[in-house]
Amino acid sequence: MRPLKMLVWSVAIASMASMVVSSQSRGPAGAVLYEGARVIAGDGSAPIEGGAFVVQNGRISAIGRQGDVKAPAGAARVDLAGKTVMPALINVHVHIGYEGYTTWRAENHTPQNVLDHLQREAFYGTAVTQSAGSSPTAMSLQFQRDQQAGKFPPASRFFFMPGMAPPNGGPDHILLVATTALHVVNEVSTAPEARAAVQKMAAQKIPAVKIWVDDRRGTYPKMTPEVYNAIIDEAHKHQMIVHAHATTLADQKAVVRAGADVLVHLVQGEKLDDEYLALLKEKKPYWATVIGLGDPIGVCENDPFFEVALPPKVVATIRATVERRPLEPSCGPPSPNAARREEMLAYNFPRMIASGARIVLGTDTGIQPGHTFGSGEHVELARWVQLGLTPSEAIVAATRRPAELMGLKDMGTLAAGKRADFLVLDANPLENIRNTRKISSVYLDGAKFDRDAMLAKWKKTDTSQ
Ligand SMILES: [Zn+2]
Repeated sequence: MRPLKMLVWSVAIASMASMVVSSQSRGPAGAVLYEGARVIAGDGSAPIEGGAFVVQNGRISAIGRQGDVKAPAGAARVDLAGKTVMPALINVHVHIGYEGYTTWRAENHTPQNVLDHLQREAFYGTAVTQSAGSSPTAMSLQFQRDQQAGKFPPASRFFFMPGMAPPNGGPDHILLVATTALHVVNEVSTAPEARAAVQKMAAQKIPAVKIWVDDRRGTYPKMTPEVYNAIIDEAHKHQMIVHAHATTLADQKAVVRAGADVLVHLVQGEKLDDEYLALLKEKKPYWATVIGLGDPIGVCENDPFFEVALPPKVVATIRATVERRPLEPSCGPPSPNAARREEMLAYNFPRMIASGARIVLGTDTGIQPGHTFGSGEHVELARWVQLGLTPSEAIVAATRRPAELMGLKDMGTLAAGKRADFLVLDANPLENIRNTRKISSVYLDGAKFDRDAMLAKWKKTDTSQ
């Protein structure tokens, strides 16, 4: 990193530290009994009707049926009759920092903007947001330390993984320009270079790495098997998790065979074959689907759920865009290949699941301008159910399983000892998965996230700054 960038970053951190509210890692100390709601634990078990739970010091201390759960003397009570409670979401794949809502570029990548995006994630109920391959390492480590130390106002918890690609390969064109300006992607051509880069990450205690294996239909240099085998081998020596971006059947087979832990994206141009399904059964990789990003977005349907957190100018631009371009949200008619994509999804998705791919929530939000953070999670959940998951399975894939993948032992489910990160919903998502959008409130570490204050802030500034 250039010293100037470092300086700008440090100054920004210092100025943010002065507007600190309270530590988000501790939560309110007094016990609170939440009672009367249907409680979905996030582990696939049947919901508790008329549930109750106690939150103390940001954690759940007891959970069960109303009447069975005893609150400590002096505990405050919150009546949640008629509501449904579920764990907050965990998104393993986003690209935060670059969206500015008036521009989309490297210059927007400041701690304030990262925080703003994390607040948008929290607004929509996401407790953990993992940036995948596009966040500058030194800056991100500093941000994590500061957030864990409670220096920032409440927001989704930030995680990141460095990216690796061949020189001039890797991210989509628009993200490539931005990440190049910040020297984000580790460019490696040989196995020794790859191993050295992974060793450096391991020394910094970074738990995961992303590789781009794609050649974008022959337009990009492709990562060679020699290089990705070395990355995966070296990463596993250091107990690091490897996320592999691969979009063709041949590439997905190759990275699964090589031992990649997480597949990113789905094969949408060809049908999966028996050889691949057998490989999935053997290896059981995690799978971040990234289905919904290509969908026409909710602002086209005037759905306030999507609109509230976007500046009106962005909403107007999306609605006025009718021509379909791969990197731009628009409200035009479906692209000519949309029907074929749906056919492939309908064929491939259930086969991936039946073969043991362990689905986890990943949205790719932020890889292109105009897609607001946080709402994409709810689109992805609905897509999974449309393609065959039960709502309960979809919720597990967005809560317990990503927590398990990321090694977040105290997150992902609602149980005694876990962090009190949860959504209070006005309707039951087990009846209709779209009810995850009926958010009454969001709690992080036992503290109610001030969604109204966020809306007021976004309204006032009309941009993310
Ligand atoms: Zn991505």
